[in-house]
Amino acid sequence: MAVEAGPARPTGPVELPDPVVVKDLAEALGASHADIINILIRNGIFASVNQAIDFDTASLVAADLGLEAVTLGAAERAAAEAAGTQDIVAPGASTDGDRRHAWTEDDAADLVTRAPIVTVMGHVDHGKTSLLDAIRETKVASGESGGITQHIGASEVVHDGKRIVFLDTPGHEAFSAMRARGAQVTDIAIIVVAADDGVMPQTKEAIDHVRAARVPMIVAINKIDKPDANPDRVKQELADNHVLIEEYGGDTIAVGVSAKQRTGIDALMEMILLVADLQDLKANPRRDAIGTIIESKVDRGRGNVATVLVQTGTLRIGQVVTVGRTWGRVRALNTAAGKRVREAGPSSAVEIIGLQGLPEAGDTLRVVADEKAARDAAEAVGAAAAGEVRTGSSLEDISARIGEAELAELRVVLKTDVQGSLGAIRGALERLNTDQVRVSVLREGAGDINESDVNLAAASEAVVIGFNTRLDPGAQRAVEATRVDVRLYEVIYKLTDDVGMAMSGLLKPKLVEQVEGHAEVRMVIKAGRAGNIAGSYVTDGRIVRGTGARVLRGGTLLADARITSLKRFKDDVREVATGYECGIGLDFDELAEGDVIECYQMVAESA
Ligand code: GDP
Repeated sequence: MAVEAGPARPTGPVELPDPVVVKDLAEALGASHADIINILIRNGIFASVNQAIDFDTASLVAADLGLEAVTLGAAERAAAEAAGTQDIVAPGASTDGDRRHAWTEDDAADLVTRAPIVTVMGHVDHGKTSLLDAIRETKVASGESGGITQHIGASEVVHDGKRIVFLDTPGHEAFSAMRARGAQVTDIAIIVVAADDGVMPQTKEAIDHVRAARVPMIVAINKIDKPDANPDRVKQELADNHVLIEEYGGDTIAVGVSAKQRTGIDALMEMILLVADLQDLKANPRRDAIGTIIESKVDRGRGNVATVLVQTGTLRIGQVVTVGRTWGRVRALNTAAGKRVREAGPSSAVEIIGLQGLPEAGDTLRVVADEKAARDAAEAVGAAAAGEVRTGSSLEDISARIGEAELAELRVVLKTDVQGSLGAIRGALERLNTDQVRVSVLREGAGDINESDVNLAAASEAVVIGFNTRLDPGAQRAVEATRVDVRLYEVIYKLTDDVGMAMSGLLKPKLVEQVEGHAEVRMVIKAGRAGNIAGSYVTDGRIVRGTGARVLRGGTLLADARITSLKRFKDDVREVATGYECGIGLDFDELAEGDVIECYQMVAESA
């Protein structure tokens, strides 16, 4: 695969008209259309390349790319206005009403405290499901549903008159999958550890994931009813894993519970509310809703059904929403308690009926003005997604971003052959820290690199560094799916050299030559000033336009040229496969019948 170089990034402030059309903005900022659309989508704005956005929005996009935007002078602005740019998109703005940058900060007066959203994680069989059941059974708001709760992917409980929302899918896999898609909905993570079993591999994984996401955690030491329960040992093991609970002088809260006997549940609820208070979670119920999809399914009878967790704003029946690549008009909203509601405010999970297609978990939902806006937004997301190759960040990408002062941290999952070499390598990495850039080790351990290591890196924009170790089969598959950069080293100084270069923003992709294929010249056609066209037959691989071409005659190299044109019959084509004839234009005019053209290109070396 060729690595396409984008347009050049400007260095100083960039002058922009107000409003500015997205494609012009891309050009001005030296970024691709897809990049700009992606940044806009991340900020909740769905615009196509031909739409215009206001200056404030454009300057935020510029800031995202580390650039400063300034408005054009008044004269230019008047000219731009006279040119008549219409269709300005600002999120939250209704179609013809207020078009000013409605997505700037919410008015402080509109912000209200919202309920925390909690995910339960931990080792298998430590009681995650039982704990969620115990919480639901003892705490679900009474009188709401006669006790019948529907599975919609999240449930609400009330403690001391305050709501808490639990995501029903326990485990860090769902948590990471969402995070890998840029969606983080969890405010607090509960790590369940069985008191009779202690900290186990998936407990450690869960801790790593929560740490990487910088989400506060509460430890629930479960099964304290068991005769062989040993909460003190659990606390010690947590400390060994750098989770210091309060008794040990740290600030992580631990609560002893028994999901089976329903004890300690109230204390756990209190601690959740305490941690939530400290986080000061706020949202604005008065704006249009923004939320994240946590589940979706096709239901016989009801059609596409998706559960959205509303994060801010209020979602109402009748509103038009965009969700990932699809959209719809909200026909009905149902709560986990099986109640039909007319609206859903911040931190509430509701099932939506009325979507045209099935969104994916992690998709963002937004209220838009009308069906046309919804369709355009869904298309913009589709187009951006089509142009986007899902890749983990390579060490070179991260290096480039550090070089542009976009990143101040290099995140690493570190695996070594033996425990003994961990300390040495971690120490060597930490010595590379500077005032500007730090190495942050999300997880370290001895042994093969496994699937969970790769997934943690994928969810956290990290690279995996292996020292005298290798990938197990699960990790291989995960690398193919996520394209996380896994670097294997056998010599410490090579490892520290690469990481050091990356941290100074200087690590460049290594280019290697890749031979694409060969063609045999069957006829040489004089093409005037444009040089010669070689009527050729592709004998193996493929011939690609714009690549390098070596001309070989009788096995000796005659010239190293470029393929300037490529035709099948009269049509220009990008590539021609084995077994086809084609016309190859070369910037070399001494071709003869029988010559062999070897097509090659330089590609970034992959791990
Ligand atoms: P998960 O895999 O983490 O979701 O664990 P489960 O909730 O399925 O529980 C695993 C097993 O532990 C089940 O047999 C539960 O009955 C049992 N269990 C869960 N919580 C407790 C508890 O507090 N006390 C006791 N004695 N057993 C429990």
